[in-house]
Amino acid sequence: MALLGAIACCLLLSWHCPAGLGFPGPAPAIGQFWHVTDLHLDPTYHLTDDHRKVCASSKGANASNPGPFGDILCDSPYQLILSAFDFIKNSGQKTSFMIWTGDSPPHVPVHELSTDTVINVIANMTNTVQSLFPNLQVFPALGNHDYWPQDQLPIATSKVYNAVANLWKPWLNEEAIGTLRKGGFYSQKVHPNMNLRIISLNTNLYYSPNNVTLNKTDPANQFEWLENTLNISQQNKEKVYIIAHVPVGYLPYANTITAMREYYNEKLINIFRKYSSVIAGQFYGHTHRDSIMVLSDIKGNPISSLFVAPAVTPVKSIKEKQTNNPGIRLFQYDPHDYKLLDMLQYYLNLTDANLKENATWKQEYNLTQAYGIEDLQPKSLYELAKQFASWDSKQFIKYYNYFFVSYDNSVICSGICKAFQICAIMNLDHTSYRDCLKQYYIK
Ligand SMILES: [Zn+2]
Ligand SMILES: [Zn+2]
Repeated sequence: MALLGAIACCLLLSWHCPAGLGFPGPAPAIGQFWHVTDLHLDPTYHLTDDHRKVCASSKGANASNPGPFGDILCDSPYQLILSAFDFIKNSGQKTSFMIWTGDSPPHVPVHELSTDTVINVIANMTNTVQSLFPNLQVFPALGNHDYWPQDQLPIATSKVYNAVANLWKPWLNEEAIGTLRKGGFYSQKVHPNMNLRIISLNTNLYYSPNNVTLNKTDPANQFEWLENTLNISQQNKEKVYIIAHVPVGYLPYANTITAMREYYNEKLINIFRKYSSVIAGQFYGHTHRDSIMVLSDIKGNPISSLFVAPAVTPVKSIKEKQTNNPGIRLFQYDPHDYKLLDMLQYYLNLTDANLKENATWKQEYNLTQAYGIEDLQPKSLYELAKQFASWDSKQFIKYYNYFFVSYDNSVICSGICKAFQICAIMNLDHTSYRDCLKQYYIK
């Protein structure tokens, strides 16, 4: 019966058909999956004449130009998040799964939230996704805001880990639920018949503001578990997509600052280098910006492609000049070997949407077409980054506009600003990053 069911599924919905089954019917030429991140729902968002009171996430500042889909000083109203998921639902894109890399609660002072409110927000977002996409396989990862107090994700079981384990049961198998409960991480094959595994890391354990893990060499034994999992994947000839909230590498807008503690960054980089033949892609959130990174081996050969997706929330602090338009993205992969082929970035022009009181999500760019590259393989991205580095690179101007999800194309990034961007794209470990800054840009 199960076999007959699978064949019927193949014939009716060829895109749900895992690669390599050998059943009749149209084999999909490409596989696709969605990536959404940093929803940051602000349940207090509402339109009112007193702009200080539009949202708790503006922290008393006047909202700048609030409308039904949000404001740049506020986290997401529910309507903005719903518009993103409605767009996905009505896009007509055939996908086999979705990755969701965390941060559901709003940016508000710690005393305005609690363990229960954080769990309620995550439950609200989970229920929204589950009711809109009852048949879609979703792989979530926890963010540093998916805990109370924020950033302090623990190294043993907790109320939040238990709550998400229960909420995410429709998507995850027993083994995944088990490690999620204990340490906030898991791994699972995308489909029993696919040779692709998702490893969802809890990189919040390595995040610099996490005081729980200070002086711990292997918080929650995640490094040991990760090496074991990658080792077994290698033996079983699987491919792996790494998903996590806080990215590895250097922040592209700062001087020599890693998102996670440097010791943990170096440790992760070493593991990713060792297993680069197994890892077919890495996907992160947290910075709220659109950026790429290419990991090289110690000889300088590019070996892994990393993608940091921009946020759905448009929020910025009053001090920041720039922010991002809301964004979501679609990846395309080869269903035979899970190599990444392309990425389509979609966005909402927030000003326009508020003005028209209608959210029209559009394609912002297609990665291979925008830059004239062949695919998303480490070599292709590495060559692109080298082009960015030339002083008059038009490609880099494009990249920097996309970095803010086309929020303001008049901003220019040159000199030191560009040095930080380029070195962060091409160098993920301390030695090569410092060399990059020294060699090319900072005399
Ligand atoms: Zn975030
Ligand atoms: Zn975050």
